[in-house]
Amino acid sequence: MKEQLEEVWASISVELRQRIPADAFARWFASARLLDIGEKGVRIGVANTIYQIWIEENFLVPLKESLVAVLGHLPAIQFQVTEGRSKDLPSPLTEEPEGAHNGRHSGVIGLNAGYDFESYVVGSSNELAHAAAQAVATAPGKTYNPLFIHGGVGLGKTHLMHAIGNAVVRRGKTPKVCYVTSEQFTNEFIDALQKNALPRFRRKYRSLDVLLIDDVQFLGGKERTQEEFFHTFNSLFDGRKQIVLTSDRCASDMRDLEERLVSRFEWGLSAELMPPDIETRIAILRKKLASMEVSIGDDVLNFMARHITNNVRRLEGALLRVAAYASLSGKSPTVEAMEPKLRDLIQEEQRRNVSIEAIQKRVAEVFDLRPSDMTSKKRPASIARPRQIAMYLARRLTKSSLQEIGAAFGGRDHGTVLHACGAVAERMAADLPLRQKVEFLEKELKGTQAA
Ligand code: ADP
Ligand code: MG
Repeated sequence: MKEQLEEVWASISVELRQRIPADAFARWFASARLLDIGEKGVRIGVANTIYQIWIEENFLVPLKESLVAVLGHLPAIQFQVTEGRSKDLPSPLTEEPEGAHNGRHSGVIGLNAGYDFESYVVGSSNELAHAAAQAVATAPGKTYNPLFIHGGVGLGKTHLMHAIGNAVVRRGKTPKVCYVTSEQFTNEFIDALQKNALPRFRRKYRSLDVLLIDDVQFLGGKERTQEEFFHTFNSLFDGRKQIVLTSDRCASDMRDLEERLVSRFEWGLSAELMPPDIETRIAILRKKLASMEVSIGDDVLNFMARHITNNVRRLEGALLRVAAYASLSGKSPTVEAMEPKLRDLIQEEQRRNVSIEAIQKRVAEVFDLRPSDMTSKKRPASIARPRQIAMYLARRLTKSSLQEIGAAFGGRDHGTVLHACGAVAERMAADLPLRQKVEFLEKELKGTQAA
């Protein structure tokens, strides 16, 4: 039972990580555990009440979505405080899934069983990537190697990647398949360095049959990790093992990535995912709905598909809301009733990305500083703290990586940004007026950028 709970929680974590920033996940969900699933719902163990409150206040929607994605329905959620855990909790990103390599789990690491080819809807926007993924899954290491899938957020890159892994595993012969995000890979590598455990790290990655590495744009600027990954890549490639990579941009647009890696990423096949057309969007909604035990009329489905056009995850989020309404109210949803409930998602869809500059300018104004203070090396708290808030907002409101944010704040490194985000989150938890101020800024910045 305990193992099953752990497995379910691992799948939920995979979902969560796609919905919240990696640092937020590491900070707030690292210590969380699934304690029970039963008729009364799920019970989630957290280290102390701060975690519970913070999760309830900030991450309830992504948590619910993740539960629905894994369990197929929305359970009641209960938190249980498991006192006495040390504050210095291990990051789940660096935990080695012990025994995952040999024996029981037949060498599968990190796969989400719900993401398979059967649940993936094919249309003109994704048929090349889908066909390539199927070819790779049928004959790993023999067709396109590496397979490089790129495209915007929420277009199904991670889904396709898991589908490849699941298909390979289901065919049997106990292949060793591993799914990691490039951030997990980086963290494991750093951890191995610190603990003098590089041989073990290398053994793990170089003995795989299929390596699925997600969001490789985050390798940008990480020189030592790139070096290590380069050797991992070569070792697998030379052994004719399959490598699948995804990124939010094409290889040549990757920032701060070594040329030799860029060229390797282009050795095999690059397939781009485009936003799905309206027919595909409707088909996706129908497919997701079919596994849900509620009925939603075509007019409502069409309404969602018409207004949410370039991010399938958001489209799914809309469907979950409508489904939750239908199942809780017992009424069949109408477009009129749903439109206000979906308004924020529809607005998000139209919003342009907020620029880091706009964030810096506004934060400087609000805290009565000069814009140049945002990029300066000055350290007094009256300047450093607002600067940290601006970094925190940049992390939440832009698609920029930690490196990119650091660079925009006067050439700081990614660790500084990560630290700033954590520090701000902590201060917000302890200081209500500050929290209101930051939340207000966040809303305002989002709003001013609406198209
Ligand atoms: P990305 O990794 O590109 O950001 P994901 O793979 O996480 O996107 O997809 C976001 C959500 O949208 C997932 O829940 C996924 O199942 C769903 N999705 C995306 N494309 C499709 C598709 N073609 N068919 C079915 N579901 C899809
Ligand atoms: Mg993804």
